[in-house]
Amino acid sequence: MSRIAYVNGRYRPLDRATVNVEDRGLQFADGVYEVIKTIDGVPRDLERHLDRLERSLRELRIEAPVTRPALRQIIGRIVARSGLRSPNIYVQINRGAAPRNHPFPKGAKPSLIVVGRRAHRPAASDLERGVGVITLPDPRWARCDIKSVSLLPNVLARQHAAERGCREAWLLDRDGCITEGSTSNAYIVDRDLRVVTRDLGPELLGGVTRAVVLELAREAAIEVALRPFSVEEARAAREAFITSTSAMVLPVTTLDGRPIGDGRPGAVTLRLLNLYRARYGLPEHRAATS
Ligand code: PMP
Repeated sequence: MSRIAYVNGRYRPLDRATVNVEDRGLQFADGVYEVIKTIDGVPRDLERHLDRLERSLRELRIEAPVTRPALRQIIGRIVARSGLRSPNIYVQINRGAAPRNHPFPKGAKPSLIVVGRRAHRPAASDLERGVGVITLPDPRWARCDIKSVSLLPNVLARQHAAERGCREAWLLDRDGCITEGSTSNAYIVDRDLRVVTRDLGPELLGGVTRAVVLELAREAAIEVALRPFSVEEARAAREAFITSTSAMVLPVTTLDGRPIGDGRPGAVTLRLLNLYRARYGLPEHRAATS
């Protein structure tokens, strides 16, 4: 089955779907997006994603091009026609096409793109061994809470990490505290087995996975501290992990080339990872015994 994309009212084969060259998403990165996980054809945490999408639109004063029920229906059709069992759904809304000029155009119709893509789920070896992260000064703007398609700083940070053989870059504010990763939220587990992650604010994205994981932690009576944490604290942590829709809960075992804790995925991380997997009916990850 050929892949299908929805663009502004039409379903087309992915390789023939096009946008207007004057779309402000293309020229100004004037748009927002979401990535939604599906499992066995069912979008997961859809309402949380749609809430965040609507919030991003409100913050940027972009009008929703379709109603929420209509968007749900489009997403459902894309899942059904994607030819994939559990695709990730990519939704992008731009301010629309207009002659290039910085101020908001009058009367432009916001554009909507919905695509089903193969999900890149964490490799078994990454769950087993954990992944590496590097730290970099956060190069982004002051509204990282908006899920904007303006991702060049994130792309560059992730590329730096990849060139160092690492999965993610943790981004540092001016005080040397970690805001989040370039494509994920960041956590450590401290000496008292408390999960520490930064509280929500304009300097980080309120991850849907973060919200779910924090709920799971509370239900499991795992202590959580919502506060900034420094690189030094992260170096001295027992465990670390990242979360995102694609990575889910992924253990972090090195920071700037040095092991965190004993250099293996930690018990609290693995507990959360499996609580998360269980929530979606995914098989338990069993750590290999050494
Ligand atoms: N922070 C950033 C910068 C991200 O790009 C992402 C993934 N889109 C996240 C956090 C995690 O968000 P979510 O759990 O909703 O995928």
